[in-house]
Amino acid sequence: MPLWRPDRLRFGPAGIPLRAKARSTKQGVLEVKALGLDAMEIEFVRRISLTEQSAREVAAIARELDVALTVHAPYYVNLASPDKSKAEASAQRVYQSAVIGYAAGAWSVCFHAAYYMGKGSEEVYSIVKEALKGIIAKLKDEGVEIWLRPETTGSPTEFGTLDELLKLSSELEMVMPVIDFAHLHARSNGAFNSYEEFGDVLSRIEDALGREALGNMHIHVSGIEYGEKGEVRHLNLQESDLEYEDLVRALKDFNVKGVLISESPNLEEDALTLKKLFESL
Ligand SMILES: [Zn+2]
Repeated sequence: MPLWRPDRLRFGPAGIPLRAKARSTKQGVLEVKALGLDAMEIEFVRRISLTEQSAREVAAIARELDVALTVHAPYYVNLASPDKSKAEASAQRVYQSAVIGYAAGAWSVCFHAAYYMGKGSEEVYSIVKEALKGIIAKLKDEGVEIWLRPETTGSPTEFGTLDELLKLSSELEMVMPVIDFAHLHARSNGAFNSYEEFGDVLSRIEDALGREALGNMHIHVSGIEYGEKGEVRHLNLQESDLEYEDLVRALKDFNVKGVLISESPNLEEDALTLKKLFESL
């Protein structure tokens, strides 16, 4: 199956909508459709919770209802861990998330790549790059077509600045960034919060990866509490200082396509807010 080409910017929750009564991925897709949303992230936050068989059922329903799917790999990933067994287990989690995500018809798999743990950016960069090369080779062997997307991270202790991820994406096939606008804002202790700054992020993506990258974006948005050490916790947009109307305007003006996932605690509510705002412009 060829990789899905985004037809527009789609919106959905990070996981099964809160109002869904049954807590299954399948039910989540049905609920997303009923809410008037058109995307959902499958959350493998603690573990990879789908079998290949149930993933294939999810794929069929999502295709029928035209809901685009993405995957979030387990949080416990550190591709640059000095402990070899931990680094290998991390690579395995990303690989397995990609395999199951592909079976579920997902287009993109998001993960937090690594922690610096005292190492410099360049050293961690090359370790992460080598680990991803290994994962990509295995996925290609098996015909698994999915975007591998390291996420811009919310704390200065985590690998994943915009520059690191743009470089990685330009040097590796199958790799593109997840742009988490809340994390960019938190990591910088309050920057990345105006129309100009959001536009600057989008221009940097275009410069590094070409115009087609803006037509192929996996985005995370939520409100966020932060301090000098970056991210504290996610908030609903209304309770936060994120200038999300400016963000949505920039996304519209740059003709961004792909999937925008709401990681606010209220999940579907902020996804709907952002979708309505986007469509009203
Ligand atoms: Zn995120």
